[in-house]
Amino acid sequence: MRIVLPGDEVSKADDRLPGEGVYKDGESLRSEYLGIVIDDGHVIKVKPFKRPPIPRVGSIVVGYVLSIIRGRIIQIQVYNLDGRIVQPFTVIAKPPEDILSAEHYARVGDFVRAKIIDDKKLIATLEGEDFGVILATCGRCNYPLLLKDESMAGKLTKLYCPICGNEETRKTAKDYNTFAKLALEKSVDYVMLDTYRQIPFEMKV
Ligand SMILES: [Zn+2]
Repeated sequence: MRIVLPGDEVSKADDRLPGEGVYKDGESLRSEYLGIVIDDGHVIKVKPFKRPPIPRVGSIVVGYVLSIIRGRIIQIQVYNLDGRIVQPFTVIAKPPEDILSAEHYARVGDFVRAKIIDDKKLIATLEGEDFGVILATCGRCNYPLLLKDESMAGKLTKLYCPICGNEETRKTAKDYNTFAKLALEKSVDYVMLDTYRQIPFEMKV
């Protein structure tokens, strides 16, 4: 496999015909793209590499809470960026100042949907009713937690465990119960996979 940069000579102009992604420059044929050379001995082409999607301000990310740093900073492992499955990367989010501990906002293992607010430092927010925790499991028994009051979806609210009765607080996204109920019906793993694939498509932001 031969990889070339834009402007690299891929062949002498006398040897091959320029195909897609290749242009003639005097005696040379050069690549228009960063890509792979495809040469059939007659026509030479360059197939460009697909650019990996890059998080921008306003991009929507889906993943899970990897860790809570110093009780304040929520580190999120992202699997889906703007509707596309991506090589995992991490972003951070902070709860609002009036939330004393991030544990009352999101916890390790929660599935979350967030919006990028700083694409240099990779900072996201869970604020806004479309964003927040989309599925959390019980800290005691690992069963999916449900909203105590469905009208509070999209806000900071209490969740309960239908098995052990445990109650926990989270900043939920407005479609929290869609995923919680799916997790009860199928499994948490099912929702996780489905989440990374589909959530941004289902969103009506
Ligand atoms: Zn429980």
